[in-house]
Amino acid sequence: MTLSFECTCGQTAWELPGADASAGTRTICYCRDCRAFARYLGVDDRMEPGGGVDLFITRPGRIHVTRGLENMALMKLSPNGRERWYTSCCKSPVTSHLAGWAPMAGLLALPAVDRDALGEVRMIYGAKDAIPGQGAPEANRGVAALMLRILFGWALPGFVLRRLRDTPFYKDGRPIAEATILTKDQRAAITD
Ligand SMILES: [Zn+2]
Ligand SMILES: [Zn+2]
Repeated sequence: MTLSFECTCGQTAWELPGADASAGTRTICYCRDCRAFARYLGVDDRMEPGGGVDLFITRPGRIHVTRGLENMALMKLSPNGRERWYTSCCKSPVTSHLAGWAPMAGLLALPAVDRDALGEVRMIYGAKDAIPGQGAPEANRGVAALMLRILFGWALPGFVLRRLRDTPFYKDGRPIAEATILTKDQRAAITD
C-alpha cells in the first residue's frame, strides 16, 4: 500500500509507496534532539509517553513528494546536526535525515493517516534520555538490527550504484533548501 502524508494546511504532501513493515524500521526515539525538533515545530504534544518521537526509518529515496516540494524546509539543531526536514507552509514534521555515506530518513510518522500500516515498533533508541515516568523505556532495543539493515539494505548497494543522493531532498548532490541552523541559545530553549 501507499502511505500518504499531508501537512496540516494541505499545501504539501508526500508518500511512501510500498509501505509496510518490510520497507523500514518503525522506531520510537527518546533522544533529546528529536524532542527538541518536535518542540521547534510545536508538535511535542503528540509525542509518546516518556517523550518519544515516532519514526519510520527507511531509505531516503523511497519517499516521494507529491505536492509542494518547494515548501520543504531544512533545519539543524547545530552546525553538524542531523538534517531535519519540515514544511515551511505550516511547520509540519517530515523527516530526520542522516546524510553521508549511510543515509537514513526517519520519516516522522506523526502526520501519517494510518501509521499502524508501518508495523510494530522494532527499535527503541535514546532510552537513557527518556523523560522518567510512566511509559519511559528501560533500555534501547533493535539498534544492531537496524544498523545491519541500513548497511546491507541500502547503504552498500546505494554506494555501489552511486544513488545515495537520489532523493527528493537533494538535487545535484546538494540539499534543495538552505539549512536554518539554530544558535546555542535557540537550541537550549527547546532542549531538556
Ligand atoms: Zn502546510
Ligand atoms: Zn532521536
